[in-house]
Amino acid sequence: MERIFNFNAGPATMPLVVLEEAQSELLNFRGTGMSVMENSHRTKEYEAINSEAEALVKELLGVPENYRVLFLQGGASTQFAAVPMNLVSADSHADYILTGAWAEKAQKEASKFIKTNIAASTKEENYTRIPRTDEIKVSKGPAYVHLCSNNTIFGTQWQSFPDLGDVSLVGDMSSDIMSRRFDVSKFGLIYAGAQKNLGPAGVTVVIIRKDLLEGIPTNIPSMLRYDIHAKNDSLYNTPPSFSVYMVNLVLRWLKNNGGLVAAEKRNAEKAVLIYNTIDNSQGYYRGHALKDSRSLMNITFRLPSEDLEKKFAVEATQQGMIGLKGHRSVGGLRASIYNAMSLEGALALVDFMKVFQSKNG
Ligand code: PMP
Repeated sequence: MERIFNFNAGPATMPLVVLEEAQSELLNFRGTGMSVMENSHRTKEYEAINSEAEALVKELLGVPENYRVLFLQGGASTQFAAVPMNLVSADSHADYILTGAWAEKAQKEASKFIKTNIAASTKEENYTRIPRTDEIKVSKGPAYVHLCSNNTIFGTQWQSFPDLGDVSLVGDMSSDIMSRRFDVSKFGLIYAGAQKNLGPAGVTVVIIRKDLLEGIPTNIPSMLRYDIHAKNDSLYNTPPSFSVYMVNLVLRWLKNNGGLVAAEKRNAEKAVLIYNTIDNSQGYYRGHALKDSRSLMNITFRLPSEDLEKKFAVEATQQGMIGLKGHRSVGGLRASIYNAMSLEGALALVDFMKVFQSKNG
């Protein structure tokens, strides 16, 4: 069966070799006579997957020794609540930087439990850009400053992370983790749902500085407590074992293909091809994000009319490119080109864009 080019925002395309590998050991996982899904999570086979995945996250991202890597459930949305519950004491508060719908959701959820301060927001500009460092007004003594590294819906991305002195950042990296290198030590905590760059849905990676595991308030439910999950090496309860297994295969694939240095290069190459097509279209294609805030993961753009946008998505689908319809809050088109999107996929889209313009321009 032929595979299509999948530009979905998430769950998203996965590397073919990873899917094939999973397929090859689906019925008999490494001589156990059963699939990994059927295996107990209390076996040495599963523990090996769990610890290899953890080690690969550390190795690929260069996670310092004083951090833990956890595999949790409930998606990034659960972290919107878990982060403030765990990290903010009754007499404290946290700052949020609003750069899109997901950052807003994180702040709204946190504000159910704690006091939040908006340190910066580009909402009035329809989230077309990331705030400059001089626009970020950190309050006095927040427990952390929360940001969303890549705004999946609006197609903007922090090009570098701000230095805010002693204050730790907390990052929602759901849609760009493992796409590029960055300095983990700027963050007290990082979280990411797996279903874009890491594997299938069902598991969320949390990277937390060890000192933040101390002093978590006692009245937090066990399943939301980072200290309990850390103490149990992410095996406090039944983990999403198949998802963790797939994440492990994806991380191996990344490592075997040059790690983040090479991923960064491939991602830039794909994104530049598409952005150049937008920029060289004499205004036919209009990018949503301002140039200095453009995401290398989600490329959002408009056409001259909504009818043409619909036609574009329909005809692209007929040519084997799916998932290009933009999110309803931005409109237009969105091409999600995570790590596993091939250069061939980006080239096919660019060719299609040029032909579409020449026929409908
Ligand atoms: N944050 C970002 C940046 C996202 O893109 C998404 C999902 N699209 C979420 C959070 C929510 O993730 P989940 O569905 O895993 O809860």
